[in-house]
Amino acid sequence: MLKIGCHLSSSKGYLAMGKEAVKIGANTFQFFTRNPRGGAAKPLNVEDMQAFCTFASEHGIGQILAHAPYTLNACAADEGLRDFAKNVMTDDLMRLSYIPGSMYNFHPGSHVKQGAEAGITYISDMLNAILKEDQTTTVLLETMAGKGTEVGRSFEEIRAIIDRVELSGHLGVCMDTCHVYDAGYDIVDDLDKVLEEFDSVIGLSRLKAVHLNDSKNPFASHKDRHEKIGEGSIGLEAVTRIINHPLLRELPFYLETPNDLDGYAKEIAMLKDLYGK
Ligand code: FE
Ligand code: FE
Ligand code: ZN
Repeated sequence: MLKIGCHLSSSKGYLAMGKEAVKIGANTFQFFTRNPRGGAAKPLNVEDMQAFCTFASEHGIGQILAHAPYTLNACAADEGLRDFAKNVMTDDLMRLSYIPGSMYNFHPGSHVKQGAEAGITYISDMLNAILKEDQTTTVLLETMAGKGTEVGRSFEEIRAIIDRVELSGHLGVCMDTCHVYDAGYDIVDDLDKVLEEFDSVIGLSRLKAVHLNDSKNPFASHKDRHEKIGEGSIGLEAVTRIINHPLLRELPFYLETPNDLDGYAKEIAMLKDLYGK
């Protein structure tokens, strides 16, 4: 069965997201842990989280994916900003411990002209400070489009971060199809080669989730603008190959396409139909 979901609003809590997911035909989902632009999280609601866990097991909702605010920058030049990222992620991981076995995705950051090497050092330092031996949440580094000074634009940069983290058993990678295509990995014309490269540089065992997005921009444009499935430069044929690829087909896929709930329900139905074809 295809593991498929989309990004949902977390404003009404976990149980509400679970119900929404079921309504649109999803069996997993992604959500922001707090306002995507950062800031304070809502008070911890353990009852809601426990109610969600029960609902999820009753309704076949699998492992869910939390997304850190995208404005966090673990490799900012400013120490205060780096600390902010560390504190928010520490708090998010504490909260996620109430949803055992979930995943937590973050954007590695932007090195803001300090150079990728300095960025990689800051990011791995932060991970070394926040990861705990006994946590059940897997932290995912998202592959980035290479916009501006983004770190994580290549598989090598992701590998370099993982290499410097002590408890790297808690680390995985989330591959965003729009981002890797924008970064210059040709998942349309040579998916096999891209996956071979991923395997030789990072190791496919690290790949835990896929952000399934089409792209508004052409190959290697380093732009990062998501498009609806089948309406961008990646196209429906390539998306069909991605969800059915023997090395990818068991992974959970998360849509981050420009859609309302109705649009997501349609994309999910279409992808389920294309699974196995
Ligand atoms: Fe993201
Ligand atoms: Fe993404
Ligand atoms: Zn993106």
